[in-house]
Amino acid sequence: MPAERTAGITVENPATGGTLATVPAIDAGTVCEAVESARAAQPAWGAAGFAGRATVMWAARRWLIANRRRMVQTIVAETGKPWEDALNVEIVYVADALGFWARRARHYLREERVHAHSPFLIGKRLTLRRRPYGVVGVIGPWNYPLILCFGDAIPALMAGNAAVLKPSELTPLSTLLMAEGMREAGLPEHLMPVLTGAGETGTAVVDAVDMVQFTGSTATGKKVMARAAETLTPVSLELGGKDPMIVLADADLDRAADAACWYGLCHAGQCCWSVERIYVEAPAYEPFLDRLRSRVCALRTGPADGPGTVDVGPLSSEAQLRIVEEHVQDARQRGANVLSGGMRERREGHFYEPTILVDVNHEMRAMREETFGPTLPVMKVADAEQAVALANDSAYGLNSSVWTANLKRGEEIARRLKAGNACVNDAVLSGLALELPFGATGDSGLGARHGAEGIHKYCTTQSLLVNRIALPELQLFPYRPRRSRYLERLIALLYGRTRWP
Ligand code: NDP
Repeated sequence: MPAERTAGITVENPATGGTLATVPAIDAGTVCEAVESARAAQPAWGAAGFAGRATVMWAARRWLIANRRRMVQTIVAETGKPWEDALNVEIVYVADALGFWARRARHYLREERVHAHSPFLIGKRLTLRRRPYGVVGVIGPWNYPLILCFGDAIPALMAGNAAVLKPSELTPLSTLLMAEGMREAGLPEHLMPVLTGAGETGTAVVDAVDMVQFTGSTATGKKVMARAAETLTPVSLELGGKDPMIVLADADLDRAADAACWYGLCHAGQCCWSVERIYVEAPAYEPFLDRLRSRVCALRTGPADGPGTVDVGPLSSEAQLRIVEEHVQDARQRGANVLSGGMRERREGHFYEPTILVDVNHEMRAMREETFGPTLPVMKVADAEQAVALANDSAYGLNSSVWTANLKRGEEIARRLKAGNACVNDAVLSGLALELPFGATGDSGLGARHGAEGIHKYCTTQSLLVNRIALPELQLFPYRPRRSRYLERLIALLYGRTRWP
């Protein structure tokens, strides 16, 4: 691409502050050209059929596993996350998803023969078809760069679309590496360009594509939706969360504390499904806190230097670290106490101590706004009723969990939570439960990834009616008194009854 049409973006290692690479900030004109090339490549890809496309996905999976160390190193370098968070979460998810969609896309997108309920449709065959939009734009965040950019492109590609990827400017390198893998796996040229850049590049993608899959903050999601409305481009939005965890008095407190610790502090709490607030029934409050504190205090922070070297890495940027500081400071000013952590670490990189906040309430930003950091605010509640009311007192509705020895009661409570995803004795829907939609309510987004919805969203529908038998069409011109009276009697007969048809 011409040099004058691009500027450079420097990618940094958030654990050390060191420079990793410079990538182009691609402008709107170049985005349009890439989208048009992708559009030209798409029909042949659609014509390759499910089997042809699946062959590429299986080859990509083999490539990913063969190149897993290179990919893990790239993810660790650009996100700062520990080696395990890259391998066990990102590589495993994408390897699994490549196989899942390669096998299941045909099933989810098969033509459906639809039964006609109306006697007026006797002789007509009804069929629902799904066809790819054409070019899907996938705009991803920085926290799980491989899963939330390339991972969302997998079902789009398996549906027969071209996919244009716009990774976060903070973490474009793993997406670029995966694009290299896709080329080696046999993906046609121009079908999946990676358009690096900042917000303006994302806006240009929204303007140019036929459907947008966006993962990121609620604020940016609203801008994307408003922009897409100008061209009536459909969007699927996976946005932020403030995910509650409810611990009842009869819960296995060791397991609950283990889960709170990992699901709250994995990748320094920078996950949309992070445990962001914890409500504990009064009798379990002190024993739970003891367990949580001992686990949090044992965590090792620092730059990852291979497997098993650290548990918690840095925040991805100085801006993210400041949000965490502000939330903790605001909580302290409003009466919260810090049980452990509570400070920026004195070292290179954007590290913040894993932190437990107590004596918190819903006046505090730490309980209302997405923190996206290594903080665990814990609140004592009188009973499950109060816990449910507080859990539902949020603009968000992404993930949620209930911990109890009584599975029946746990499920009853989970069903009352205002969240797209709810778990009992687990803190997030497994990223491997790809059969179940991972959706959201409220400020957490629109649409879902995974399950049938996770691939239907990448398709337009065509409803097909074929009239197989030429029965007399009573409603066609010309209108005649005798035929109209006959039709009236028929209507009274059909619809005058209460139960049929
Ligand atoms: P942002 O909303 O800041 O950015 C997301 C992506 O959108 C980035 O690629 C960004 O580019 C791009 N972008 C920025 N402005 C625009 C624009 N006007 N039009 C189009 N694209 C634009 O999110 P973050 O990267 O900060 O990610 C963190 C957020 O993601 C958190 O709120 C988190 O909860 C959410 N998230 C949600 C998940 C879910 O499944 N619900 C999963 C994971 C994260 P650039 O970075 O270059 O500015």
